[in-house]
Amino acid sequence: MTGRPRMVVFDLDDTLYPEAEFVRGGFRAAGARLDVLEGRATGAARVFLEVLERDGVSRVFDKGLEALGIPRDPERIADLVAAFRGHRPDIRPFPGVPEMLDRLRGRGFRLGLLSDGPLAVQEAKWQALGIGERFEVVVFTDALGGRESWKPNPAGFEAVERLSGLSGRVLVMVGDRPRHDLVPARARGWRAIRMRWPGAYHAADPDPAPGRPVASDLADLDRLLLGGLPGA
Ligand SMILES: [Mg+2]
Repeated sequence: MTGRPRMVVFDLDDTLYPEAEFVRGGFRAAGARLDVLEGRATGAARVFLEVLERDGVSRVFDKGLEALGIPRDPERIADLVAAFRGHRPDIRPFPGVPEMLDRLRGRGFRLGLLSDGPLAVQEAKWQALGIGERFEVVVFTDALGGRESWKPNPAGFEAVERLSGLSGRVLVMVGDRPRHDLVPARARGWRAIRMRWPGAYHAADPDPAPGRPVASDLADLDRLLLGGLPGA
């Protein structure tokens, strides 16, 4: 079994923990910040969460401020974005993730993380999740060369190869975004599994490689990783 996977490399957001929890926390923090800026209880946190729930994650500040009758000037929005990004994440892994990671380690897999996003934000999430000690290789692509280096740029995948001393099909990428996580992994000869948690932001994204192994829960992932992956 020379092709047996040796390292499982996970994406972070919506792969190991529900990103919606982070997003909701960010809008609550931004609402609290707006209260400070306005010097009164604006109700913004509730309004932002309502807009988020109703319309999705795009332009929540614009729409929320409009609903509140507060001017949408760029400076104010930048302040809210900073509050969103700078908030202390109150997030937990998806249920069963720590045990799943332990199972994989118990079966001899090495673990890696490959995550995009502003460095300070991703580091704060990683800290809050408390699972980092299980990982041998941790790559935040933002640290490699800024946003340019985010997936699907190969820089992060190359960094994992360099740090692990592995390449090709003994590496398995597990991520929720086909074009960012999986296509570039396959391009380097890694294997790839789509993690598609029900209701995740990118659960409905089209996959340019139909027929790829997909896990909708951890039982699926166990079957795929411990039961023997197909070549893809
Ligand atoms: Mg993700």
